[in-house]
Amino acid sequence: MNYYGNPITRLIEELSSLPGIGGKSAQRLAFHIINMPIERVESLSAAIKEAKENVKYCSVCQNLTDEDPCPVCSNSSRDNRVIMVVEDPRDMAAYEKTREFHGVYHVLHGAISPMLGIGPQDIKLKELLARIGENEVDELILATNPNVEGEATAMYISRLVKPLGVKVTRIANGVPVGGDLEYIDEVTLSRALEGRREM
Ligand SMILES: [Zn+2]
Repeated sequence: MNYYGNPITRLIEELSSLPGIGGKSAQRLAFHIINMPIERVESLSAAIKEAKENVKYCSVCQNLTDEDPCPVCSNSSRDNRVIMVVEDPRDMAAYEKTREFHGVYHVLHGAISPMLGIGPQDIKLKELLARIGENEVDELILATNPNVEGEATAMYISRLVKPLGVKVTRIANGVPVGGDLEYIDEVTLSRALEGRREM
């Protein structure tokens, strides 16, 4: 359907391929962009390109960062022997906001989901196991999301890591089932962390 001419159609297609952007939103954004001053458009496209070119995975925790190791991993006042495993960099940011956690993180970039065809090899699990193998770890806190995929991922990791003699804990269920950690307030997150239980 090429009502608007090729350049706009292409822009709409690109935008609608982004997560959470349906056809209508893509059209609205495309027309908004067309009406923006050229300087704003240049600034937007430069920001996208710069983020893509300069952001990489931290070689220690797999968080997105422009310096490697990331600021959390290179902070000598953090406790390297306590690792909190999260699904997403946004979860890590949420826990950092609570200021209650002084260990370090490991970002999986996803969760195991047989339904979506996401297996253990599709998340940063190999990197976690290597990290545990190479470092002294006292506790692994599994803070994956409290939904089906998050629970399955926590169980899977627990089964792999417990035989290595590492204490494995799971954050408390103070968070609603199916909830997304990113949207849960800081008090609830602090409580979930405090009330963690050994698996
Ligand atoms: Zn890091």
